[in-house]
Amino acid sequence: MTTRRTAVFLVVVPVCTWLLGSTTVEVAAQGRTRHLVLVTLDGARTQEIFGGLDLDVLRSTLAEGADPSGTDLYRRYWAATPEERRARLMPFLWERLLAEHGSIAGNQALGSRVLLTNRHRFSYPGYSEILTGQAHDDVIESNDPVRNPFPTVLEFLKRKLSLPASQVAAFASWSVFNWIVEHEEGAITVNAGFEPYDHPDPRIRLLSSLQTETPTPWDTVRHDAYTFHFAVAHLRSYRPRVLYLALGDDDDWAHDGRYDRYLDSLARADRYLERLWAFVQGDEQYRDSTTVIITVDHGRGRTPADWTDHGEDVEGAQDVWLVVASPDVPLRGEWRDAPDVSQNQIAATLARFLGFDLAEQNPEAGEPIGTVFEGW
Ligand SMILES: [Zn+2]
Repeated sequence: MTTRRTAVFLVVVPVCTWLLGSTTVEVAAQGRTRHLVLVTLDGARTQEIFGGLDLDVLRSTLAEGADPSGTDLYRRYWAATPEERRARLMPFLWERLLAEHGSIAGNQALGSRVLLTNRHRFSYPGYSEILTGQAHDDVIESNDPVRNPFPTVLEFLKRKLSLPASQVAAFASWSVFNWIVEHEEGAITVNAGFEPYDHPDPRIRLLSSLQTETPTPWDTVRHDAYTFHFAVAHLRSYRPRVLYLALGDDDDWAHDGRYDRYLDSLARADRYLERLWAFVQGDEQYRDSTTVIITVDHGRGRTPADWTDHGEDVEGAQDVWLVVASPDVPLRGEWRDAPDVSQNQIAATLARFLGFDLAEQNPEAGEPIGTVFEGW
């Protein structure tokens, strides 16, 4: 691990160096953001996001003494450096989105950290922290399908913009999002778990019926493919101002110890991001007026013994990451030597992009991320 970290540090130095001397940077034009897209990749570790395939983990999944270089996974995703490996795993993210349109925080080897403030380090507390701007450790302490008692930034934006429910929409693979994303049932559009999605396009109708014919190993989680296609159909047809896409295949495969499928899920998520971005930038309404934030609810263990797991006692599960791609923000590549970011700042950051102060709804919410709005 030590050598790998050293390599990251040396190779990535040129990226985003202006963070060291931001006074010389031209300030971005303000207020071009008219639409928000939030994407989460459940439990995607910083190790794979910043370093691609983890050889120690791969080795731990093979028979004693087996050569990892003989595996399909190695052929698909291995390369000599962390930069090459992550680009093989998520080429759109690294070679297009972060090179041309956005930046990523959370590479601790470069002096950038994104951390949870909730102590639980599992999904509902993480998503609630992202969406409400605050950890509520004593109230939100399970993944049970219980209504979120706290209003979310999605509900806040819907109210501030006086939008109908179709204009603020959440599509999620995990059914419990029905309870997480809104404290008032029906405030926004939510489609989660094995829920049918009613849409005039016959292709989407077919997908909606197929999802129950293609069960996953997990009762409350459908395949991300359905979630993605429903979300894009909604985007095309209803043109929401705020879209939340919550993907989750990777977390479930990781829990099952399937490192191959965990990595394939991340690679697939990258292709979904590419298609989503292609739609956004190819569409007159969304082009150059859409801010995309991509993040994660929690990390996972750091070692071959605990990479499958997360939770209060799992070291590493507090380490997360955050991508911001916005026509209003000039940051590119990786953050380095930057102030820590907390997960509870994401909600206020989303609101700020549309010109609103989340403190109106929740004075206890984390503040908008200073580095993102430097110069505004
Ligand atoms: Zn999990």
